[in-house]
Amino acid sequence: MLRQKNTIFFCSVLLGLSFNSIAQQFTGFKNTENQKKIESFFDSKLSAKRVGENIKLMSSIPHHIGSVGGKFVADEIAKQFKSAGWDTKIVTYQLLFPTPITRILEMKGATNFKALLKEPALKEDATSGQADQLPTYNCWSADGDVNAELVFVNYGLPEDYETLAKFGIDVKGKIVIAKYGRSWRGIKPKVAQEHGAIGCLIYSDPQDDGYGAGDVYPKGPFKNEFGVQRGSIMDMVIYPGDPSTPNYASIEGAPRVDHNEAENLLKIPVLPISYHDAAPLLQDMAGPVAPKAWRGGLPFTYHIGPSKSKVHLKLNFDWKIRPAYNVIAMIQGSQFPDQWVIRGNHHDAWVNGANDPVSGMAAELEEAIAIGELVKTGWRPKRTLVYCAWDAEEQGLMGSVEWVEEHAATLKAKAVAYINSDGNGRGFLSAEGSHALTGLITDISKSIKDPQTGVTIFERQRANRATEASTLAAKKEILNSNSYPLGAMGSGSDYSSFIQHVGVPSLNIGFGGENEGGEYHSIYDSYDHYSKYKDPGFVYGVALAQTAGRAALRLSEADALPFDFTALHKTVKGYINELVASVEQMRERVKVENELVNSRAYAIAADPTENLLSPTVVEDVPYLDFTPVLNALTKLEKAAQALEQIKSTAEGQKLAAINAKIYTAEQSLLMTNGLPRRPWYKHSLYAPGFYTGYGVKTIPGVREAIEQKNWSETSAQITEVAASINRLANYLETL
Ligand SMILES: [Zn+2]
Repeated sequence: MLRQKNTIFFCSVLLGLSFNSIAQQFTGFKNTENQKKIESFFDSKLSAKRVGENIKLMSSIPHHIGSVGGKFVADEIAKQFKSAGWDTKIVTYQLLFPTPITRILEMKGATNFKALLKEPALKEDATSGQADQLPTYNCWSADGDVNAELVFVNYGLPEDYETLAKFGIDVKGKIVIAKYGRSWRGIKPKVAQEHGAIGCLIYSDPQDDGYGAGDVYPKGPFKNEFGVQRGSIMDMVIYPGDPSTPNYASIEGAPRVDHNEAENLLKIPVLPISYHDAAPLLQDMAGPVAPKAWRGGLPFTYHIGPSKSKVHLKLNFDWKIRPAYNVIAMIQGSQFPDQWVIRGNHHDAWVNGANDPVSGMAAELEEAIAIGELVKTGWRPKRTLVYCAWDAEEQGLMGSVEWVEEHAATLKAKAVAYINSDGNGRGFLSAEGSHALTGLITDISKSIKDPQTGVTIFERQRANRATEASTLAAKKEILNSNSYPLGAMGSGSDYSSFIQHVGVPSLNIGFGGENEGGEYHSIYDSYDHYSKYKDPGFVYGVALAQTAGRAALRLSEADALPFDFTALHKTVKGYINELVASVEQMRERVKVENELVNSRAYAIAADPTENLLSPTVVEDVPYLDFTPVLNALTKLEKAAQALEQIKSTAEGQKLAAINAKIYTAEQSLLMTNGLPRRPWYKHSLYAPGFYTGYGVKTIPGVREAIEQKNWSETSAQITEVAASINRLANYLETL
């Protein structure tokens, strides 16, 4: 249908006047028809077959940072960008990346056991027996050689230690063993260290991540008894990136902080293990039976400990500096070359990484190839497209963070938005991002068909939420909603530095929910596993390319950049209302709990044979003054509405002037001094939680001060957030 490509894109003005689309209008476009033609040409060049071939190619060997495979994959990506016509370069950083020299885990005493610490090759999985696999370990564990009793700490979260305190069990001087899940992995050793533990083991319990979830690999997609989740335990909520170069880029010759002094590294040895290796350790536990909610799926009764036998954990790492290769590809904009639309996915993996990150990377390459085909017709994007493939994401977002730190000033001036993806698979659209982009992602989700059902990806996601919602009211509300519920950004992928450090509006996009498995960060995240269980036929690879590609092309081509701050106002207002309500509930809860303590209810109700300690009275929750934020929100609402009004009629020079300024509006929300105790994080609305890791905390300064019951800091943070919302409102008024 679109054979005569060259002509259709160049008469956009005429087309705009003569086409009157009865279907969907795209926010920010005077001429939706022309954009639709660009997008349907783009779609016609996407190939599921090629997505599959690229996944196979890029996951064909282990390719972590500094490996032979890592360089091979970076070169392959650069080659494909180049042959699609992109101006491509490989940018090298020198990054600290420790790999293990010694890993010993054994138990001696009543139980004598030496842990395997190895995932076996499977005949059903072609790449599982390759050389050059990284061993099973947690990157950024400290060196250590410790001998101690073991204590089981459930998921290792702060509340689990409150439960331990009730049992009168202390982890000081002990090694703890925690289950994977319920938090980002790095939180577990951090909380253990805060409580005085001298070592930490993290294991995958079969109930959550093994035969309790479904058939195990290779019979099914779930974790077999030997599978181990590798992963970074850098305390990324302090700052991500190379720990030895905080706030500046790890280029050749950059000064380095000694890793023993780095603020975001823990001081205790930490090791991830399989349930095969965890079982004998847990079975050796003495002490009380674990609370019901703590017990997992192993075939014995779980006890809290301490263990009868002693655990010996010895870990040593090489702490080497290694080269990392970011691939950066550009197509210069024809009208606004200094406005950059940036797209990225990482290319490094823990091992073969067919799902994480290759499935997202293959979709990004597919977009680049299709955009290259558009360019061959003579078309040029109005704004500059910058497509990136990051290295060293897995160890703490290092490739993207170092690039953003090096180019912070340029990005603050030129970056219109950053669009991220990572692992991808069968299921429902999941998108998080800057809330001024809610309209954009809603529009896009209504213009793409779900590969399995043929309805739009918007409808399918909405149907999924509505059927899963727990209350009738929620179901009704979801069914009536016409806007995509864009999530807020925490951490865990390469968008973090863009949004949270330099205030570039960002999106994170992927499909999932029907692609469950236990392969994450193990040798079994392979092409064989992926093509069988994650996205058979690679059709969701194409859906991701359509979604992220449209985001890039609408941002590059829009007449009026699609930032709508009325949507941001609405979302932030919701967050503040929720905070106000949560403080009220907290006050009520503390009052009732204190009454229970004072009336000795806990002591009277407790099983006398269990000897549980009763809780003590806590400080009452004071009344807090949220009026500065509420007033700022009113001001923002007016400013945002007025701007939408102006944008609806603006044209020519006036519109160009608004566009040139509107994409930097998000920077008004940055706080000069950043968040308390973690100044790298500057955004006042979104941050990863101090005790959740990947999980987002919205209005983090205020929310976390409340959670920590630090009332003076709460008030100070309310003032900070109000100031940033006022700055945004004032800025919008100048447009
Ligand atoms: Zn990833």
